[in-house]
Amino acid sequence: MTMIQCISPIDGSVYAEREAMPYEAASQAVARARKAQKSWAKRPLEERVQLVLKGVTRLNEMAADVVPELAWQMGRPVKYGGEFRGFNERSNYVASIAADAMKPMVIEESDRFERRIVREPHGVVFVIAPWNYPYMTAINTIAPALMAGNVVIIKHASQTLLVGERMVRAFTEAGMPEDVFQNLFLDHETSARLIAAKSFDFVNFTGSVEGGRSIERAAAGTFTGLGLELGGKDPGYVMEDADLDAAVDTLMDGATYNSGQCCCGIERIYVHESLYDDFVEKSVAWVSNYKLGNPLDPETTLGPMANKRFAAVVRAQVADAISKGARATIDPKLFPADDGGAYLAPQILVDVDHSMEFMTEETFGPAVGIMKVKTDAEALALMNDCKYGLTASLWTQDPERAAAIGAEIETGTVFMNRADYLDPALCWTGVKETGRGGSLSIFGFHNLTRPKSYHLKKVTA
Ligand code: NAP
Repeated sequence: MTMIQCISPIDGSVYAEREAMPYEAASQAVARARKAQKSWAKRPLEERVQLVLKGVTRLNEMAADVVPELAWQMGRPVKYGGEFRGFNERSNYVASIAADAMKPMVIEESDRFERRIVREPHGVVFVIAPWNYPYMTAINTIAPALMAGNVVIIKHASQTLLVGERMVRAFTEAGMPEDVFQNLFLDHETSARLIAAKSFDFVNFTGSVEGGRSIERAAAGTFTGLGLELGGKDPGYVMEDADLDAAVDTLMDGATYNSGQCCCGIERIYVHESLYDDFVEKSVAWVSNYKLGNPLDPETTLGPMANKRFAAVVRAQVADAISKGARATIDPKLFPADDGGAYLAPQILVDVDHSMEFMTEETFGPAVGIMKVKTDAEALALMNDCKYGLTASLWTQDPERAAAIGAEIETGTVFMNRADYLDPALCWTGVKETGRGGSLSIFGFHNLTRPKSYHLKKVTA
């Protein structure tokens, strides 16, 4: 019997453990899901939408349990109240566009022909979710997938072991029919075996590039549709006409909120030379205000990283950059809770360059590098000198300039004067090693369904 454990970053204790499901039992669960899908898809769209929204409401009612449970599992301070705002915003938005997104495209409706394209659900959708925003990343796929008439099986991250179980409990209590939405505790090997056996009609994986590669390998030759939402190294670029205080506020928040564990967190910042010194000084002051500590303490604003092995990656990248000439601007003594393990002081490095892994590999922690630039061309070359491509955040008063630079940037999203936000009306997507596919927006529905064409000739003469 293999156990899957969640080791709490709060104190290193085993917070939760569950038995990994054997392959045969998992296959049976998939078979039950496939059976349930037929009648689920036959229900009217509006009924499916309302049932999903009821599940969302039920989860909100569990907030008093969900928030400390999250803190124990992945270290986010209770002060922030979980992730209900984004969770609800995304669910409500996809509900509001479901009818439009699923509407048949009528090409011709005459007395001779009916020609149209309709959207059919894939069938059984497998969601593999990460721990960093365990509810929000999961709902991006779960809500539209269910609304579109798919059934969903979720396998959540070991670090947030209880999240899938809790979501399914909320949805079931809200009236979701049996087997339409199931949580399975699966190890990697069983997940891969299921995918390779063509158990699923679509797999949405959100996580690391390495994890994405394993999923692609498991699916090879099965023709299973894949959505891969992978890592990032998102840049900010502060131009000489930027609102400096707003840029510092948003970019520092984007770099450090959730202990920097955001897929679209800001990991490197390029600042025009005319604003550089002020930007660094204000950023250091901004970050120094954090209170690092136990996430269950309502005063804590920066929790531990989700696991001490994630903090070890950040510490190693920072040490490597310093050994190559970078300078740390934050005195770790300001953060006495830094224990050399999961509790990690935030850091801003200057005198950095792209010879350092810190500026090119995903850090996924509360540490950011700032570089001085002279021109848009220089900033653009640096922003694109990256194997990832999720978002870029441009700071200027000039939307035309932002659009022109944006057209050259190799990312899925371009922001102007904001960062680190998923707009549910827009497609969440990446390029390069950030993966492929797209969630949210009308494209999210389209990726979770397939087109089916009807060409009906009414006359034979
Ligand atoms: P991860 O280690 O790849 O894990 C993500 C999920 O995939 C977990 O449920 C994990 O299960 C599972 N998994 C990993 N390898 C697997 C395999 N070979 N077979 C089956 N399942 C596998 O990533 P993470 O550390 O949780 O998440 C952080 C990463 O996710 C960062 O790189 C971040 O940028 C990325 N991310 C991207 C987005 C986006 O929208 N692009 C959003 C959020 C996060 P276990 O936990 O059991 O190993």
